[in-house]
Amino acid sequence: MGLEFTTTKMADAIAWARKFSLFTYPFVTACCGMEYMSTAGPKYDVARFGAEFPRFSPRQADLLFIVGTITEKMGPVLSRIYQQMAEPKWVVAFGVCACTGGFYQNYNTMPGADQVVPVDVYIPGCPPRPEQVLDGLIMLQERIQKHEGHSQVRYREEQALANKQEALAQIRLPAAGK
Ligand code: SF4
Repeated sequence: MGLEFTTTKMADAIAWARKFSLFTYPFVTACCGMEYMSTAGPKYDVARFGAEFPRFSPRQADLLFIVGTITEKMGPVLSRIYQQMAEPKWVVAFGVCACTGGFYQNYNTMPGADQVVPVDVYIPGCPPRPEQVLDGLIMLQERIQKHEGHSQVRYREEQALANKQEALAQIRLPAAGK
């Protein structure tokens, strides 16, 4: 009980640190990029939320901001960038194009970035206002604190599966020795 309490508190403290030290990889493809820059500028000052450092190497980033229209051709590139990012990681779809494909209804536009990568928070708007972006960021921070980010959930599931397999192996071992 004591150990469980300590590890839970430790996990909460780590989540708190993570939500205020996000390193963003901006995958910017279209006009939403202007609004992304506005959010980072002094008026809206995303630094107040601990997410001011863009990293242009996915290996140094844990928050993927998908900003703008995603075409089918870009899909494999976006997926590769996601896979190269550090764990645990989070993904935000910025603007209606990244969320759903927006008003583009043609063969080459992807109907939402979640066709190739998991998305934690969707920010609507064409483009979204900086206030909406900050609202989405706060929403993401709440998810991180509650351990509800998609990669946090995946990690828990993998751990549970590994524990189950280990327990099963322990049960089978004496039987194999007979
Ligand atoms: S949502 Fe609107 S502003 Fe953003 S990339 Fe699409 S068309 Fe451009």
